[in-house]
Amino acid sequence: MDISPHHLPRFLKAINAELDSNADEIIGLDQAIGDGDHLTNLQRGLEAVQKIEVELSEMNWSDALMKIGMTLMSTMGGASGSLFGSFFLAMSKAAKDKTMDAQHLAAMFDAGVSSVKQRGKADIGEKTMLDSLIPACESLKQDVANNQDLPLTVANLKQAAEKGMLSTEAMVATKGRASFLGERARGHIDAGARTSQLIISVIADEVIHIQNEN
Ligand code: ADP
Ligand code: MG
Repeated sequence: MDISPHHLPRFLKAINAELDSNADEIIGLDQAIGDGDHLTNLQRGLEAVQKIEVELSEMNWSDALMKIGMTLMSTMGGASGSLFGSFFLAMSKAAKDKTMDAQHLAAMFDAGVSSVKQRGKADIGEKTMLDSLIPACESLKQDVANNQDLPLTVANLKQAAEKGMLSTEAMVATKGRASFLGERARGHIDAGARTSQLIISVIADEVIHIQNEN
């Protein structure tokens, strides 16, 4: 895969545009069962990363991911700040001295998801971002192990993340602020599951665009 940190500004731009165009929905989700700040937390973090995007684009993947993780941790705030931050720090560790091929990418994603699980003391079915991240990761690992082609791998990944995100609607939350609501949390999609799914989907689309340009 010819994806390098030089593509980071492009990914960031696409992610911001996608979050902007779904802003009302995301804010509404976090207002319903959280405190309504999830999107602004995320946008603050992304803005800080965008400020250093030129510097990042000159780094290797491991260093760039480390810097992204540290920047998100120190700027985002909220539960999601430390979780997204640790996701990127774990990806950075797994990326050390590795080329960015499909196998390594799947292993890196897996390391990121594991660290969110660990830090959040959460797993699938608890109505959090992990309900998008875990199915997406499992889909990616399976398709990479089976040597599926990129378009199918990406389509399956997006579908798994979306299905996982939608599954949070019927759940009660056992972690995060929404857990204080008990049964009242049912009937609302988790905001972090939605933003994670949107970000995964946008990155997946950009990867396909980049591949098609080469
Ligand atoms: P806060 O809840 O502190 O206001 P945010 O609003 O930025 O932080 O993020 C809330 C999101 O974080 C939730 O929608 C959920 O997806 C995620 N989240 C909260 N707690 C956990 C946890 N323990 N494990 C995984 N994800 C969590
Ligand atoms: Mg919040």
